[in-house]
Amino acid sequence: MTVAPLPPLPAEAEYGQLGLARAGLAELRREDPELAELLDAEVRDQDTTLAMIASASIAAPSVLAAGGSALSNVTAEGYPGARYHPGAANFDEVERLAVSRAMDLFGARYANVQPHSCSSANLAVLAALVPPGGTLLGLDLDAGGHLTHGSPASVTGRHYRAVHYGLDAHGLIDYEQVAALAAEHRPAVLIAGASAYPRTLDFARFREIADSVGAYLLADISHIAGLVAAGEHPSPVDHAHITTTSTYKQLGGPRGGLILSGRDHRTPGPDGRTPLDRLMQRAVFPQNQGTPAPAAIAAKARAFALAAEPRFTRTARLTVSGAHALAAELGRLGHRVLTGGTDNHMVLIDLRDSRLTGVVAERALEECGILVNRNRIPGDTRSPLVTSGVRLGCNILAQRGMGPQHMRECAELMHAVLAATTPLSDTEYRVDPHERVQLREHVRALCARHPLPHATVRADDPGALGTGAAL
Ligand SMILES: *Cc1c(COP(=O)(O)O)cnc(C)c1O
Repeated sequence: MTVAPLPPLPAEAEYGQLGLARAGLAELRREDPELAELLDAEVRDQDTTLAMIASASIAAPSVLAAGGSALSNVTAEGYPGARYHPGAANFDEVERLAVSRAMDLFGARYANVQPHSCSSANLAVLAALVPPGGTLLGLDLDAGGHLTHGSPASVTGRHYRAVHYGLDAHGLIDYEQVAALAAEHRPAVLIAGASAYPRTLDFARFREIADSVGAYLLADISHIAGLVAAGEHPSPVDHAHITTTSTYKQLGGPRGGLILSGRDHRTPGPDGRTPLDRLMQRAVFPQNQGTPAPAAIAAKARAFALAAEPRFTRTARLTVSGAHALAAELGRLGHRVLTGGTDNHMVLIDLRDSRLTGVVAERALEECGILVNRNRIPGDTRSPLVTSGVRLGCNILAQRGMGPQHMRECAELMHAVLAATTPLSDTEYRVDPHERVQLREHVRALCARHPLPHATVRADDPGALGTGAAL
């Protein structure tokens, strides 16, 4: 049999992932302009709107490139060196890299990078540490907790007996109540973590309470992982038995989750024998997930490397100082800021004294190019679809280089939009059309002065794809 000569290898620059990405974008443009245009529109929208979504950040192009890489084509259950499929040699190295970078970044002694989200990570951890029907203690959803902390709307609230702690009169976590509920209900797991809480969490105090009743402490730092990595919020890794986080909220990574353990990684699990690190390995696979997402794990590895760079730390500092200034400015303009300020990236506004509901404020602001999300506030009587508050975050503003000195302008823009909004009901409203045009233009100009990092990188620029620029 004669074999046809192999075609010459493409030029170096075109070979491998770069060639694939370029071919992919060209194919999309050529064969699916409808989809390609939507994807381009998204880049433009992100660059021209002021995103103050507390749970979002912008992933660097190299993170997006790794997440869209050919590793997606690898199917391999199991862990590096112990897969249930062949062909995972590169993926093994990538996963090892992601694990070691995660451990370095957070000073952890164990990391599992396979969870598809922080929700999956929490479900895996709880399934490993709480027996069916057992008790968990977490922050109430209305007080800023997360669905997976035992809300009735989540399986965690149906398959476990969930008990919830709340906030004191100042809107701060009531540690006395946490201790009292722990003593009364003796939970298997105490969860420290929140989706809408603007103040520092006292992980040492949580651990004391957990120890006093023999509970495991799970710290869920989904919202504040970037601040923890940068040293701008105390780390729970050596206080909690297990720490979980999302990788996309503040870490600039792909959609995904991460499980960490520090000092307690060899502490025995509920059976009194199996150490927590081994329990967590099994809890993720095979107990709660099948195949991992190899390309997403590559993107996590890239994001963890970027988060270890000085630029990430500078951005984290700007995030916190910006949020502080934003809270102060909004307060000065007469808005009710929950807890009177913030220690992290997040500002919560109570709209009950205003004429507007959370959903009306959210939509009116969106019309003018400002993204914030409606949020229930403690004691809220409106439904989760309406709410009486909004939640703002400074992650993306800081990534655009906006710090305290820019917050007066952001706060004044928000204030002007809300002042130009006439409510017609809890969900209907009208924004003065003349004001809307002017405010939208103002937002656009502000965004143009602070472009998103890399938003203008051209896909057809030969050097553009796969650049490893930082967050
Ligand atoms: C967002 C969030 C989660 C869920 O994260 P996903 O990765 O979106 O599943 C879990 N816990 C907290 C505290 C969160 O804020």
